[in-house]
Amino acid sequence: MARDMLSLGASTRAVHSGERQRRLGDAVTVPVYQTSTYAFESTQQLIDFKEGRIDKGEYGRYGNPTVRKAEQKIAELDHAEDAVLWASGMCAMTSLLLTILQTGQHMIITADSYRRTQQFCSGMLRRFGIDVSVVPPGDPEAIEAAVCPNTRLILTESPTNPFLYVIDLEKLVEIAKRHRLRTVIDSTLAAPYNQNPLDFGIDLVMHSATKYLAGHNDLLAGVVVGKAGMIDALRESQGILGGITDPNSAYLLLRGLKSFALRMVQHNANGAALAAFLESHPKVRRVYYPGLKSHPSHAVAKAQMRGFGGLVSFELDATMAETGAFLDALELPYMAPSLGGVESLVEQPAIVSYYEMAPEERQKIGISDSLVRYAAGIEDTDDLLADIEQALKVLG
Ligand SMILES: *Cc1c(COP(=O)(O)O)cnc(C)c1O
Repeated sequence: MARDMLSLGASTRAVHSGERQRRLGDAVTVPVYQTSTYAFESTQQLIDFKEGRIDKGEYGRYGNPTVRKAEQKIAELDHAEDAVLWASGMCAMTSLLLTILQTGQHMIITADSYRRTQQFCSGMLRRFGIDVSVVPPGDPEAIEAAVCPNTRLILTESPTNPFLYVIDLEKLVEIAKRHRLRTVIDSTLAAPYNQNPLDFGIDLVMHSATKYLAGHNDLLAGVVVGKAGMIDALRESQGILGGITDPNSAYLLLRGLKSFALRMVQHNANGAALAAFLESHPKVRRVYYPGLKSHPSHAVAKAQMRGFGGLVSFELDATMAETGAFLDALELPYMAPSLGGVESLVEQPAIVSYYEMAPEERQKIGISDSLVRYAAGIEDTDDLLADIEQALKVLG
């Protein structure tokens, strides 16, 4: 598109970014380019391509036009120069860390982070001689205190999962600049609608596109956005590591993205309404939602986010079994891991994510037996509230 997309609203960008182009048969939508390879007309064209005089397809692991369109759309939604899509959020995160880090270096990660990311850092990266410090979430001072001479990278989520701690991005960037560190944020729970960490000077932002970006619980993908040079380096490493998104998933992602801003408005409204309702209910011991004044990150979240998303975590005044009975009594959400799709999902983290862990270990990281993680979809708010209200009655 000729005009500056960034001057347009989030919904207009969600619909049009990356897509306006004359196509075969004047089709409005981007087709699925179901191809693994791209032909060259002549040896001369191949030489021109190798010497960078022309830009075209070469081989499926190095790019695909449908995937490229989805990357451009997400880049514009998150105020980025460029984006690179991966087969899943974890593929994006692990490939990013493998690309940036080297043996002998040190990185800092926050405790309340996606468990698989923590396992990759504290397990696999350590095997390759990369030192990892784990610090409490949402606490810039704790991060700064962990900086060593060989520290290279700070990785945090914001908001974190499942307690939704938000880090002060300005402070984080200031610390990183002072110590010459790279900053990476997993911004999955905010999505580009609620927060744009690059605007604060964060180097790289990763999203599990499986969640709010795709939004329909029907595909897996991951994305990293940032400055063009860094994204080029990640694209190079994707050619080696191979974790590409297939064109069909990229098409579904593009389709899902067109309603992204609209969906986020409803996710935000549902999350806020559920949090307020739960906080006022006598059977609920504690609610974690950054939009609530009672959340320790509320002030920071309010200052740097546009909305607080659909994810609400809460502890019931109940045992593990009673909590299970509450979940079983809910009629609208599916009992399933994940978040960010149109269907509401609910889970009991002590069972779905931490079942293998000894109860004392779970307690230590704050995962209580009565913790519930409710990922509000885009259903009508009143229906979700009425459903929760009736299910809470099983607690007597
Ligand atoms: C789901 C999720 C991931 C992993 O993404 P996948 O697409 O499932 O591989 C990483 N970080 C956060 C915060 C997530 O919610």
